[in-house]
Amino acid sequence: MKPYEIHKDIYIVGGPDITDGRDGCVYLLSLGELILIDSGAGWSVDKILRNIEEIGLDCKDLTKIILTHCHIDHIGGAPEIKKRFGSKISIHNLDAPSLEKGDPVLTAAAWYQTTFPPTPVDVKFNSPEEVLMIGGQKMVCLHTPGHTPGSISIYLDRGGKRVLFAQDLHGPLLEEFGSNLQDWDRSTKKLLDLDADILCEGHFGIYKTKKDVKNYIFSYRRQYEVE
Ligand SMILES: [Zn+2]
Ligand SMILES: [Zn+2]
Repeated sequence: MKPYEIHKDIYIVGGPDITDGRDGCVYLLSLGELILIDSGAGWSVDKILRNIEEIGLDCKDLTKIILTHCHIDHIGGAPEIKKRFGSKISIHNLDAPSLEKGDPVLTAAAWYQTTFPPTPVDVKFNSPEEVLMIGGQKMVCLHTPGHTPGSISIYLDRGGKRVLFAQDLHGPLLEEFGSNLQDWDRSTKKLLDLDADILCEGHFGIYKTKKDVKNYIFSYRRQYEVE
């Protein structure tokens, strides 16, 4: 599949069907500067960058990489992209140490039979809701622990639609990741309350109606028996 515009200046530029089966979905916001949400597992950096150029955007404008959580399929490309373009890496405070130490278990790098180099984090989110203003566009980074202690979900209202990025809200919930079912229950309720129009997920793509977004979240709430 080719990269494409999901909604007004919001693109998918990487993911299992686009760049590499090991990648979580990689989203790009073009708001005067370019912001990546997640960065793939690391093997596909060149492909992701080529996709950005193919859309007609300039990778030199990649100022920020916002990481939804500390797993390799989402963070793997970040060190290389930062090295090439000086992009600043943001992640929640509770998931930052895994990157900074290159922890093989907490980053799930060992699972993917690879390593993640210890990588400094530039911005650590530390409150339930971090509001960013980028090119006049408000973006909210919500702390939504569950899959990992520092998982975040991001939403923004643009062109009359609320777009939600909630990578790995499906789990898995595993002790070795520090997952927590009670947290996950609260977090997914918060996500339902957002009443988003579009959900950009981590591995299963994009859901484009309020009903599909809700059904998706409910299906996992039933699976984890909190519903
Ligand atoms: Zn993932
Ligand atoms: Zn994950």
